[in-house]
Amino acid sequence: MRIIIKNEEGPQLMYLALIGYFSLYPKSWGKISNTFLTKKAQKYFRKKGLDNTIKEFFDFCFMHFNNYVGEATLVYFALLYKNPQREEPLLNYIKKSKPKILPFFDEIKENYLLALNSFKKSIKNSNLEKQTKEATKKDILKKRSLLPRIKTLIKKDFSFFNTLNYIDNQTFIITPTNFFPYQFDAGSYFFENEVIIIDSEPLNLGLIEHEVLHSLMTPLAEEFLEQNSYFAPIIVELSCTKRKMTYGNNPTSLLGEELIYTYTDHFKKKLAPTYQNFLQEHSFKNEKYFQQFFVRHSGFKHRCCKLNINKLQTFKKKSKEYFNTYEKNKLSETIYQLYFQFQSAKKNKKQVNFRDFFLSNFNKYLKIKTG
Ligand SMILES: [Zn+2]
Repeated sequence: MRIIIKNEEGPQLMYLALIGYFSLYPKSWGKISNTFLTKKAQKYFRKKGLDNTIKEFFDFCFMHFNNYVGEATLVYFALLYKNPQREEPLLNYIKKSKPKILPFFDEIKENYLLALNSFKKSIKNSNLEKQTKEATKKDILKKRSLLPRIKTLIKKDFSFFNTLNYIDNQTFIITPTNFFPYQFDAGSYFFENEVIIIDSEPLNLGLIEHEVLHSLMTPLAEEFLEQNSYFAPIIVELSCTKRKMTYGNNPTSLLGEELIYTYTDHFKKKLAPTYQNFLQEHSFKNEKYFQQFFVRHSGFKHRCCKLNINKLQTFKKKSKEYFNTYEKNKLSETIYQLYFQFQSAKKNKKQVNFRDFFLSNFNKYLKIKTG
């Protein structure tokens, strides 16, 4: 396994250009964060305008494909910038995950690479470009100091699942912080033996761990649902509302995410996904702590507001209602049990790996849960 911290110029240019695009041509689904650099960028584009080639390219993607081409697809193609060897793995990904744009593959690729170059030229030698480069350099140094901890964490996780061989030949590229986040806080992109992780939170080890675990859990969720398509609607039904608000009603993403969240947030911490544990994790000392948490966690705030919760007192009164509405998660409860079963199966039979265990046992667990 190799872990490399380095910049990926393509997605960085893309995210910066998106700030320009959504500052000048606002769309209801564009989200612009409020950091020092995004504010600078917005000011810059409002004054100087946005390079026309990249504007036309985004128009083409967002309007012609009616949101079928979104952030993830744009990042995937941007990762070809200066990395032509990624073209074949990308083509395979598009065939499998975005078949509707397969006939446009070359057109998108060529127009996009031209547009990124044109955009790069348009900001050359600007203060914005200099500040972004400086921040990137600093961030890379900071992240490199985390490398030993990241390595230990990944090894420990994959040895729990008995799947260390999965990461033998993998190269994980972790980019510096994405200073211009759009919709995702983080994302991982797979090119056969290369996984590229982009996230918008500096020094958040948990987020990196989450993205790395996708390389194990996403294919597993896909395989399980290919073999057990009958369970697809059941997975959606058992998931909690909070997840569906974030990830939509796609059974493969819901299952993949839940395999990861249940492992990192519940199993590793030995905290079952119950109301009692939820309360314990949300026990605010006083109003001030509650309000601070409220401001920092926009998703929590949004969900609370829908139940007319805006004070600690109302939260305390309605916490059960909040839990039942958003957090109650039968899928997570099922996976939580499965992890314990896997742990004891390993004690009896050391070589059992999570992939085999999951594929041969999870359907039984789901059957019990659904009666
Ligand atoms: Zn995820």
